[in-house]
Amino acid sequence: MSHHSHHTPRFTHPSFGTVTPDRVIIFDTTLRDGEQSPGFSMNLAEKLRMAEALASLGVDVIEAGFPVASKGDFDSVSQIAHHTKGVVICGLARSGSAKDITAAGEALAPAERKRIHTFISTSPLHMKYKLRMEPHTVLELITAGNTAARHFTDDVEWSAEDGSRTEEDFLCRCVEAAIRSGATTINIPDTVGYATPDDMEQIFAMLRERVPGADRVIFSAHNHNDLGLGVANTLASLRGGARQVECTINGIGERAGNAALEEIVMALRTRHDCYPYVTNIHTQKLLKVSRMLATITSFDVQPNKAIVGRNAFAHESGIHQDGVMKNAATYEIMTPESVGWTRSSLVMGKHSGRAAFRDKLNTLGYDTLDETRFNDAFTRFKDLADHKKLVYDEDIIALVDDEVRNHDHIRFVSLRVNTVSGQPSHVQLTLSIDQHTTEVTATGNGPVDAAFNALRQAFPHEAQLLLFSVAAVTEGTDAQARTTVRLEEADKFVDGQGADADTVVSAVRAYIHALNKLFIKRTRTKPEALHS
Ligand code: MN
Repeated sequence: MSHHSHHTPRFTHPSFGTVTPDRVIIFDTTLRDGEQSPGFSMNLAEKLRMAEALASLGVDVIEAGFPVASKGDFDSVSQIAHHTKGVVICGLARSGSAKDITAAGEALAPAERKRIHTFISTSPLHMKYKLRMEPHTVLELITAGNTAARHFTDDVEWSAEDGSRTEEDFLCRCVEAAIRSGATTINIPDTVGYATPDDMEQIFAMLRERVPGADRVIFSAHNHNDLGLGVANTLASLRGGARQVECTINGIGERAGNAALEEIVMALRTRHDCYPYVTNIHTQKLLKVSRMLATITSFDVQPNKAIVGRNAFAHESGIHQDGVMKNAATYEIMTPESVGWTRSSLVMGKHSGRAAFRDKLNTLGYDTLDETRFNDAFTRFKDLADHKKLVYDEDIIALVDDEVRNHDHIRFVSLRVNTVSGQPSHVQLTLSIDQHTTEVTATGNGPVDAAFNALRQAFPHEAQLLLFSVAAVTEGTDAQARTTVRLEEADKFVDGQGADADTVVSAVRAYIHALNKLFIKRTRTKPEALHS
């Protein structure tokens, strides 16, 4: 593999201006490829929070969704385009559908800088069985799609879906057509996670050598993790001359997921000797964004996950601990602080006032709470501080996350539980439904069952409870409980989370969160599984 390929000539990009040869554009698709995978759907408020966090992390492009897929997708792209500044906002569209491109262009209209991302399959398998199109038709649609997209923005990206399994000569012709019709970013996805690092390096080197105009565009990698090679393939793509990487926080995405943003960025930083490229990512914010996503989607990363897993910087063995205390470099290739780990700090107690609480929320990244939510969060903090001697950052995060979740339709008000061991439990549950207070009573096999029965009575639904799990937010018997509930209705999944010092209340809050999501989801059409 030729290393001459490092020397990408300078050119002017419509969104980034002059791009130096060592600069890697970080294209985050957490809200598109990530969000469309089962169990990871987010509502509008959650997507806006993630978009703000991604912008402040320093990503260059946010792929905010697939506007034609549903009204919900259109609205979230449009709202992100309206609110999230300092970053390119991107919407996905099929090359062959004028409707897709118009929807993307319209949804992106409020953006400071916008990109339309067109795509079509180019592999023999996809063209024959999925698209049922001849190669010449695919070539025509590439040109038509990009030409239409250029009516809305100069920043157009084109993707060869299943690009890594596309025949070389045809891929060259497609890329040439995409460049001629105005694409300034050319993405070659390994859609099915089949490629090896050598394949990816070779594909980009080949395209840059053979395709006329290749020196006037940025090549982009989009690697899936079906063989656990997503990050390795992404780094190899950079060696082949790609200068944009498509990735997601925590590596979420279709099937086994996408290459993880935090792993790519820290590999580039830690092994700058091998990969002499730079990004604009503020690495100290990586952990915070990872946790925000985990909280919103109710999926924690595994403990041994690189960079952001609970054990990523834990040294359990005595020999390792001894080494780290003498010199951290003995067993640490990067510092925990460089990606945002800090010691869990004692924050506040029951004497802390509103100003101190607001200060704390600001340092934790919750600087955009409206007054009502701030007041509700403050009240709950005071209640917690009355029960719990030591209030940690994690407690405040759990509590505020609970407060900012979507409770538009149903809100928890109060719960009275009567339990005697060996007898059915009785609950009296008070809810606010569209601002009207309602009370329900129910019995059940234990307080959680009784409380869930009360919710089923108040909101008759067919959904099955698939998962119910409780974890402690911090250590100690006075710790808050964080509950996750997953409901399934007609093949649609929703996850809800709740946090409270009372385990049963935490469970009820989680169930209500899931119900609120379910009612939104009932009105949302399922996006077609057309993605790159
Ligand atoms: Mn993908």
